Amino acid sequence: MSPSALGTLLPAVRVPPPGPASRALARRLRAVESRNVTYVDDDWPVFWEEARGANVRDADGNVYVDLTGGFGVALLGHGHPGVEAALARQADRLVHGLGDVHPPSAKVTLLERLAGAMPWRVAKGVLASTGSEAVEVALKTAHLATGKPGVIAFEGGYHGLTLGSLAVTWRPHFRAPFASRLYGGVAFAPFPQASSSVGEGTEHHAGGEAAASLESVRRLLREGAPNGDPIGAVIVEPVQGRAGVRIAAEGFMADLSGLAADAGALVIADEVLTGMGRCGAVLASERVGLAPDLVCLGKALGAGLPLSACLGRGDVMDAWPPSEGEAIHTSTFLGHPLACAAALAALDGLEAELVPARAEELGARLRSGLCERLSGAAGVAGIRGLGALIGIELAESEDRPGAAARVAVAALRRGVLVLPAGDAGQVVELTPPVALTETQADHAVEALVSAIQEVI
Ligand code: PMP
Repeated sequence: MSPSALGTLLPAVRVPPPGPASRALARRLRAVESRNVTYVDDDWPVFWEEARGANVRDADGNVYVDLTGGFGVALLGHGHPGVEAALARQADRLVHGLGDVHPPSAKVTLLERLAGAMPWRVAKGVLASTGSEAVEVALKTAHLATGKPGVIAFEGGYHGLTLGSLAVTWRPHFRAPFASRLYGGVAFAPFPQASSSVGEGTEHHAGGEAAASLESVRRLLREGAPNGDPIGAVIVEPVQGRAGVRIAAEGFMADLSGLAADAGALVIADEVLTGMGRCGAVLASERVGLAPDLVCLGKALGAGLPLSACLGRGDVMDAWPPSEGEAIHTSTFLGHPLACAAALAALDGLEAELVPARAEELGARLRSGLCERLSGAAGVAGIRGLGALIGIELAESEDRPGAAARVAVAALRRGVLVLPAGDAGQVVELTPPVALTETQADHAVEALVSAIQEVI
C-alpha cells in the first residue's frame, strides 16, 4: 500500500490495536506525562504517525477511518492540500510575530475574513489559541459591555477547562476538584433536549422541558446568579457536543435569545465545535435560531493549527478600552502567522468546497445508514445530529456504565476511530471530516454497527 494513497482508504488493521509500537510508546509516556492526561490501558490508545483526508495511520502501520475528525478539527480532512500549501508558504517567510505589538500581516487578513462571515454589520474580534481562551475572551467582553458579571450556562454544557471557562462548564467530574477556585456567579439552567430518531420510549416532552428551562432563565435574569451577581451573559452551545450531541427543542434558542436581549444580557454562542460549517451552515446558530452577540470559534478554524477567536458585534467589542500600550487581554501567540495562514486556507476551503452543504449531505448519509441498521436495537436509545455532528445514544445500564467507551474500543479493532461523549459516557460521538468518501462512510457505518452490536 503506497503511503500516498492515504486519505480515501478503507480501514486496514494489520495488528490488533494497540500494536507493539503503540504499547511501547504508552509505556514511555507513562513515565514522563502527568498521569491524568492520557488514558492508557490494554485496549487504548494507539499513537498517530500520519493522517490524510479521512485516514489516520498509527505507529504500527494500522490504517483507520477517522470519524472523530481529530476532535472535530480536521473538518476539511487531515492534511488538506490547500492548508499544507499555505503553511509551507507562510513557514518560508514568517513563523512568529509580535501579536499585539508589531503584528504579522496575516492577522489583519484573517480578522477581515472572519468579521465578514459574522451575522452583524460590524464585527470585531480577538484571536487566541484554544477554545477555552476564546470563551475567556467572550466572558470578559460580556462583563465589560454589561457591567454585570453573572452568567447563565446550561446543564451539560462544555466550554473548556481553564478556570474562567471551567466555571461555566457543567460536568461535576471536571469542576469538583477545583470548586473553591471557580467563580460563584454562574447559574445552570436545564437544557431542553429534543427527542431523537430510533429507539422506543425516547419521546421527551421537549415542549414542556423548553418552557421550564425558559422559565428558569427568566427567573435568573430577574433575580441574578446564586451569589447575587446580576446576569450579563448567557453562554450556550447551539448543539451541545461533549454532553452527547444534544439538540434543543425547536424554537428554544430563539426564545432564549429574546429573553436575554430583553434583560440586557448578551448571548455567547460557543461554536468552537459547531462552527465553520460542521452543522450545515458557517455558524450553527443560524440553523437553530440562536441570535448571538458574541461567537467563539476554535477547532476547525485553524484546520489543525491551534487557533481560536472570539468575534462580537462592533458595539459590544468596543466595550474594551482602547489600548494605551498594554493590552489588558493578549497572549504570546495571538495572531500566530502560521495559524492565521492555515485559517485563511480553511476559509477558502470552506467556500470552495461547499463545506456546509457537504457536512449536511455526509451527516444525512451516516444518520440514515445508522438508523436503518440500528432501528429496533434494544440497546440503542437514539440517533441524532445536525450536519456532520452526530450522536448515537446507547441505553444506559447501571451495571454496565461507559458503554460508549467500549464501543470506541470495539470500533478501533475494526479500524474506525470514534469517541465517547455524554455525562454518563453513553453516547458515541461522530465529528467526521467532509473528506470522508461515500465508500468510507458506508464501510464505517457497517463497522460501527457491528461494534455497537458487540457491546450492547
Ligand atoms: N467549547 C466547546 C463547545 C468545545 O467543544 C470545546 C472543546 N471540546 C471547548 C470549548 C474548549 O476548547 P479547547 O479544548 O480548545 O480549549
